[in-house]
Amino acid sequence: MNLRSPRAPLGVTLGLVLGVLTGCKSTPRGPAPEPSSSSPAAPASAPAAGIGSASPQAAASSVTDTLPTSAGPVTLTPIHHGTLAFGFQGKTLVVDPWTSAPPGALPKADLVLLTDLHPDHFDPAALELVRKDGTVLVVPEVLRAKLQGAKVLKNGERTTELGIEIEAVPMYNLKRGPEAGKLYHDKGRGNGYVLGFADKRVYVSGDTECIDEMKALERIDLALVCMNLPFTMTPEEAASCVSAFKPKVVIPYHYRGSDLSVFSRALSAVDGVEVRVRDFYPAGASKQ
Ligand code: ZN
Repeated sequence: MNLRSPRAPLGVTLGLVLGVLTGCKSTPRGPAPEPSSSSPAAPASAPAAGIGSASPQAAASSVTDTLPTSAGPVTLTPIHHGTLAFGFQGKTLVVDPWTSAPPGALPKADLVLLTDLHPDHFDPAALELVRKDGTVLVVPEVLRAKLQGAKVLKNGERTTELGIEIEAVPMYNLKRGPEAGKLYHDKGRGNGYVLGFADKRVYVSGDTECIDEMKALERIDLALVCMNLPFTMTPEEAASCVSAFKPKVVIPYHYRGSDLSVFSRALSAVDGVEVRVRDFYPAGASKQ
């Protein structure tokens, strides 16, 4: 991801800088309507604020980003909510496939990473759609019993699959939960991931608040960071966390109902961090 490009005006930075960044190709998939409802597990009162015609989400772009590495490019394709796909050396890696994605949007996967047991992350029907002969599954401990034969990583553990280094990192809530004394995501249950594609490091946060382990990340070239209430964190909190570890490029994901302009504005003053807004709620995706 090229950081020498001049910082664009806010409205341009928010997803309209397609294909103009030297060394980083972007393939437009076209604009899409706004998400209109809360996450499937959200209570009816879950906020859906921040979306409107003036919101930068309206200009969010569905594109494939390309990150050059010493062993060839990595492509990133947003699919839906927490679902995304990487391409590397002819292989496809899918994170958290979910059948709420538009029909046909889930590719066959050589490698699948799951982050958690919630239905937007662990969806057996979607796994069947993306699986093919030889598909490798990497999952957190909490899914061990549900997915026989999967490679299980606990927080802090690593493996290498298909030439991709995979480190499981913590993802958890600090304060938010369904009731007093409970958290939506307990520490140690799910995995975020740091992926090593040759000489580049890509972070996928999973569902988390701004935890110390995220703030301590180093040398991240591309970060995918969640935000949505009530389950994870606010755009302000996400921006604060990102400013601590300063990835070269950050792409918000799993952001339904969040005002991304707040996130982008907060990071506009942070040197060395480029925000790219991509459309994770395309036409045809379930509104659930
Ligand atoms: Zn989620």
